[in-house]
Amino acid sequence: MKRIAIVSGASRGIGRAIAETLIDHGYYVVGMDLEPLSWGSVEQVLSISVDVSDRDRVSEAIAEVRAHFQRIDVLVNNAGLTRDALLENMCDEDWQAVIDVNLKGAFLLTQAVAPQMMEQGYGCVVNIASIVGLDGNIGQSNYAASKGGLVAMSRSWAKEFSRKGAQVRVNCVAPGFIETEMTANLPEKVSEQIKVRTPLKRMGSTDDIAQGVLFLASDKSSFITGQVLKIDGGLVL
Ligand code: NAP
Repeated sequence: MKRIAIVSGASRGIGRAIAETLIDHGYYVVGMDLEPLSWGSVEQVLSISVDVSDRDRVSEAIAEVRAHFQRIDVLVNNAGLTRDALLENMCDEDWQAVIDVNLKGAFLLTQAVAPQMMEQGYGCVVNIASIVGLDGNIGQSNYAASKGGLVAMSRSWAKEFSRKGAQVRVNCVAPGFIETEMTANLPEKVSEQIKVRTPLKRMGSTDDIAQGVLFLASDKSSFITGQVLKIDGGLVL
């Protein structure tokens, strides 16, 4: 039987690459996005429209997955957004939007899948954090707080879920700068500076991140929990 993996924000960018890689490796994917997915066949992926920051919709969506499959093997909390501004210019709305999706969204989805994973005694949660959550970044107070908080929550969950001997693991992937729509609007000067500062001298690809997630979702990482895997070309050492 195929393993069931939920991927939030699977419509494009990193989330789509993660979903497609998991499908290529024999998983059945449930994509959770604001809009129905425009890719994938019903044999590969079930698309459920969910705003991950909406508790009621998240509960309904996870109940639907449990009723349909009776198991959830992997949850990838990938949905995320940025609303950048320098500290003095950051408004409450931009602060809250980023915290609601990046931090609360992961909290709600993980809280909703936890009972199923604990019941199975098995499961993997992979949270897509960011090197910005570890190292900070100018103009990203909200984003850095959300991703740093995600790392701290992941470590708490790694401890919490392993009580009673359950093999429920929680890890983070912290991407560096990856070529997606999120980074497409960076001024060329900034993206050139990033490449110069990165030891491996390039931006990352969505596949670079998907391969890390695949490893952390699989039994090949069965003794790894509570960790942060930086995939950033060596930018933050
Ligand atoms: P992206 O291209 O902007 O895609 C973001 C995804 O999140 C989209 O699928 C979007 O769905 C979904 N999403 C946004 N708000 C949502 C909500 N309320 N409910 C459900 N889904 C929602 O971003 P990306 O670059 O692939 O980034 C993916 C993850 O990697 C994010 O968590 C991001 O913070 C992290 N990351 C990215 C980079 C980078 O350099 N790109 C670096 C470090 C970390 P719609 O299509 O429906 O809008």
